[in-house]
Amino acid sequence: MNRIIKITLFAGIIFTLFFLSGCSSEKKGDQVKQVKLNYSTNALEPYISSRTVDLHYSIHYKKYVEKSNQLIEKFGFTGKPVADILRKIKGNEKYSSLFNNLGQALNHDIYFNSLVPEAKPPAGEMLEMINRSFGSYDAFKKEFILKGNSHFASGWVWLVKNNDRLEILTTSNGDNPVTIGLVPVLGIDLWEHSYYLDYENRRSDYMKNVTENLLNWDYAASVCLK
Ligand code: MN
Repeated sequence: MNRIIKITLFAGIIFTLFFLSGCSSEKKGDQVKQVKLNYSTNALEPYISSRTVDLHYSIHYKKYVEKSNQLIEKFGFTGKPVADILRKIKGNEKYSSLFNNLGQALNHDIYFNSLVPEAKPPAGEMLEMINRSFGSYDAFKKEFILKGNSHFASGWVWLVKNNDRLEILTTSNGDNPVTIGLVPVLGIDLWEHSYYLDYENRRSDYMKNVTENLLNWDYAASVCLK
């Protein structure tokens, strides 16, 4: 074999190995994916602007997902269910960056599913469960708005399922109710990036508009009643 053929073969093998390793790491990196947005970015107007939805989905949420995939691989959690990872690493300083980013990836998956244009009020079994848990749909709305509005600093307000009842609670930063064994049914983002462009510091107006006009009760029922 002459020298040029040898060099060409060698380069070919190196290129192939490089290409394969690139493919496999890209595949691993896809473990956490952005949930598909089931509406156009302007569909939540006038309550949440197209610009807010676009920045929130395409920049903030995307970054949490990308970072999660990098850190899942770095810490060797590839293939493990997201809720299991979060429960396992909660409170461990070594994994705080993964906990925050992966929590936020899951939270935003739930958030973008929790909103829907032209929302209809809850009905049937879903409404019965709300009535049983809070007394009435109006009482639910009042408590949900109040708790979201009064949560200090960044975080989330959740409707969760605890056995056969619904409860409202808030979490800070990127935490998610799955870490304490509860099922998140609806989740609303309280970070300023989710409302500041539209409402400035008026979180109560954002909470009121979202609660009264955008909550996706079909999604809630699909989580709750299965
Ligand atoms: Mn957010």
